[in-house]
Amino acid sequence: MSKLMGWLCHYTPVEILTALGYTPYRLLGRKGNNPRAATYLPGNLCPYVQSCLEAAIKQELPPLAGVVIARSCNAMIHLANVWPRYGLKGKILILEVPRRLDDNAVFYFSQNLRRLASELAHSGERQLNEERLWAAISWWEEQRAAWRKLLTCRAAGEDPPGGEEIMDGLARWQTPLNQREAEKWETVINRLARQPCRKSARRPRLLLSGSILPQELIAMVEACGGLSVFEDSCNARRLLLAPAVGAEGDPYLYLARLYLGGPPCPRMVNDREKRCRYWAEAVDRFHIQGVIYHAMKFCDAAMYDFLALKSFCEKRGLPLLRLDGDFSGGNRGQWQTRIEAFLEMLEVR
Ligand code: SF4
Repeated sequence: MSKLMGWLCHYTPVEILTALGYTPYRLLGRKGNNPRAATYLPGNLCPYVQSCLEAAIKQELPPLAGVVIARSCNAMIHLANVWPRYGLKGKILILEVPRRLDDNAVFYFSQNLRRLASELAHSGERQLNEERLWAAISWWEEQRAAWRKLLTCRAAGEDPPGGEEIMDGLARWQTPLNQREAEKWETVINRLARQPCRKSARRPRLLLSGSILPQELIAMVEACGGLSVFEDSCNARRLLLAPAVGAEGDPYLYLARLYLGGPPCPRMVNDREKRCRYWAEAVDRFHIQGVIYHAMKFCDAAMYDFLALKSFCEKRGLPLLRLDGDFSGGNRGQWQTRIEAFLEMLEVR
């Protein structure tokens, strides 16, 4: 039986899956249209969510023992509703995630995590004891710390590993096909750290932001002559959370604090100020010269987030480009023209 457990939203504590003997496997969506998923989901729904359902219906995913769906935004709630009927067979675990960070939210989330662990443990897998959970917490923190260290060299390095390589490495890291592969995370990070430097150019240093960033967008930005040095998205930098404090006491409370207290995603309604501080730190540390926002079609949270970013960029005098995307890979021509014009404008500044 497969030990792979699917997950989607970065508010899913993968530590619990690891501690129970599963290998967490992130559903990262697919390229192309999603005609089958569009039959079962409203047409005006997040294309990332649609593409994950399409991948399941078309059996493009590896065999999964089940999937954890965090009901973190409207689109994910729709997915949780239709998955039991049209998605893959196997366990379906629903995780409620609060939209703010305070003591009540942390306590509520910790209770939900405890419930998730016991629902998963009932499958005949190993029972979860706290010692094993703490071991999984340390294992994941070691990996995130290594990633953070690697990405920090882009702050100072003249020729840091480019965004395309980093995004590719992060995608591999999130989608191991078995535990042996998951344990090779150091190999992925070390390979990236040894990437040859691209000495040639002084390219404009960019922050890319959005809910989920398509890898092909980063590749296009760099092919056009830009350098992506900070990817603020839930399939990149936000995954790495923040250095953990206070690893003692109740592991579920610890995990709740760790995830809700990490870099906020656009869904966190009361965290706009924290999000602005996060951007400000990125801009200063990584010497950002321009910002590109990928606005996922039909994502309300991304629209609000973009407005906050626009006002932040205006205050800082930072050029900002917004690109709308539907995750299908279909709008390449339009993106390319606009990216080229944006980079040209940055070069003459
Ligand atoms: S954008 Fe936020 S809510 Fe949506 S999947 Fe990513 S982390 Fe979860």
